[in-house]
Amino acid sequence: MSTGPVRYLVVPTVDAARGARSARFGEKTLLWVPAEQRLGRASRTAPGLLLVTQVGGSFQAEYPDVTPLLDHGRYLVISSADRPRRRSNHCWRIEHLKPGTTVVDVPRLTPARTDATVADLVSQVDLPSYQTDLTWLAGLPTRHSLSATFTQAMDYADHKLVALGYQTARTQITVGAGHSANLIADRAGTGTNRELVIITAHLDSINLAGGPAANAPGADDNGSGSAGVLELARLLATRSWQHDTRLILFGGEEEGLFGSKQYVAALPPADRARVRAVLNMDMIGTKNTATPTVLLEGAPVSQAQLTTLATAAATYTGLTVETSLNPFASDHVPFIDAGIPAVLTIEGGDSANHHIHSANDTLNFIDWSLTADILRMNTAALAGWLEPVVRSRPRPAGSVVASAPGRIDVFAVGMDSALHHQAFDGTWKDVESLGGVVLS
Ligand SMILES: [Zn+2]
Repeated sequence: MSTGPVRYLVVPTVDAARGARSARFGEKTLLWVPAEQRLGRASRTAPGLLLVTQVGGSFQAEYPDVTPLLDHGRYLVISSADRPRRRSNHCWRIEHLKPGTTVVDVPRLTPARTDATVADLVSQVDLPSYQTDLTWLAGLPTRHSLSATFTQAMDYADHKLVALGYQTARTQITVGAGHSANLIADRAGTGTNRELVIITAHLDSINLAGGPAANAPGADDNGSGSAGVLELARLLATRSWQHDTRLILFGGEEEGLFGSKQYVAALPPADRARVRAVLNMDMIGTKNTATPTVLLEGAPVSQAQLTTLATAAATYTGLTVETSLNPFASDHVPFIDAGIPAVLTIEGGDSANHHIHSANDTLNFIDWSLTADILRMNTAALAGWLEPVVRSRPRPAGSVVASAPGRIDVFAVGMDSALHHQAFDGTWKDVESLGGVVLS
């Protein structure tokens, strides 16, 4: 491989020089000298810089002799001298690296004030219940979209969601020449003018090298997100919410987002217009970075939702948060393409995860504490979007206290709207002993 005569420099972001061509990747910034400045007009043929967005290490696995100039998790920078003939497939894509872009941001966030209702719900993220679901799903030989065991996995999730009080439905989807399914589970909110909050993950798995019949446990990709949907479903079912909750487990993701594309295409305009947020989980189980890190990937249309998630992480978890507005290769993309605010939550540095899409994507590589923190972040953000129904405690509508030597009268209008009267012969202590407050 050759990197060509591209001159570049990777510097800490704070030191980025003004006026230089630059692109930010979290704590690092890539600076480069424009080719025309160095080589004159003839430089049109000089190699430029290309941005690769990849799932797992899929691009590097296919092109092991291309050495990236910069490797930042899901994103690589390569020289156009190394450009492969293909521009994209389901797992990676190549585009020109535009100067002045922030490919990955590390937002500086101050935690919000802790909300007691949210904190209580967040504290109930239950690792054993999540582990049970993920272990069951990863125990199937495969969840290939066209396999009988995919249907078995869908049956498992369906029964769980029905038992939790959700109304479920399956829609058939096409995956190439074959058929698979999406599972949709609804629970209505109790507010007026209800909007819709959608939580998604793809249930299918794949073994790219081995084919449809090969072993594909898909523990991280995406048993981790599917079990996440079930755990969030369990938590959210313990409360009443103002808005409607919809959970979706997609099929056909690994073959090219078939399930989510067909779902969004069929979503009625009235439903599209009332979506508050789509939260997608795809690979939330492997720790690839020194500190537990989550990548929030959205688009300008989902900037507000992305900020809500980042603030939730800062308030309720110890996660390091990276953000990107460069959506790719998971079920949030069809929603974003339709102008619906969607965000992907995914383990940081996912390109370092070389186990996915193979028989090696097993429970051995799941980091339960990272997963639990991502679920806590997601729970807090969802509580904000769904808005808890707060039942106010009954209070008397008003009261009057009259006193005379040796006598106290309390008149109160109760919740029943009737006037209640109680007389005391003793002292103010009697009022206090009944829970009253004496103001003097
Ligand atoms: Zn996936």
